[in-house]
Amino acid sequence: MVKWYSKGLKFQCTGCGKCCTGSPGYVWVTPEEVEEIAKALKITLEECVRLYVRKVGDRYSLRERPKNYDCVFLKDKKYCQIYNARPQQCRRYPWWEENLESPESWAEEKKRCEGIDHPDAPTISLKVIEENLITG
Ligand code: SF4
Ligand code: SF4
Repeated sequence: MVKWYSKGLKFQCTGCGKCCTGSPGYVWVTPEEVEEIAKALKITLEECVRLYVRKVGDRYSLRERPKNYDCVFLKDKKYCQIYNARPQQCRRYPWWEENLESPESWAEEKKRCEGIDHPDAPTISLKVIEENLITG
C-alpha cells in the first residue's frame, strides 16, 4: 500500500524542547538504555532506576515531573541532560507510528512540534522515515 507520506515529510528540529513536556506520557526505556543513562550520569544502575525510572505494567518509562509533565531530564524547559544517552523513543521522534497514521495525525502533532513542516526544514525521505519509524 502506498503510504500517504511516500514523497517524504518536512521536518527539522529547532530544539524548542516541547516534545519533552506538555502532557502526561511515557518515554519508554529498555534496560540497556537505563544502563547507558546511568553511565552518562556516573551513578549506579540502582540509583538511576530509583530516581528516574518508573514501572508501567511490564515496561519501564522515564519519570516526569508531576506539576508540569516535564521529562525528569528536561532542564530549563529546553535542554536534555542526557542528550547523548537519550533513548530511541526520543532520537526517533517524530517518526512514531501514531504520528504518521494519517495526514490528520501529522497535522495534530504539528501543533506540538514546530519542527514539523518548518519553513527551513528539508524533506526527509520515505527511506529515512521508515528506518526510524517506531511501531507498537
Ligand atoms: S530524555 Fe531528553 S530528549 Fe527524551 S524526553 Fe527526556 S529530556 Fe526529552
Ligand atoms: S518539539 Fe519538535 S522542534 Fe521542538 S525539540 Fe521536539 S522535535 Fe525538536
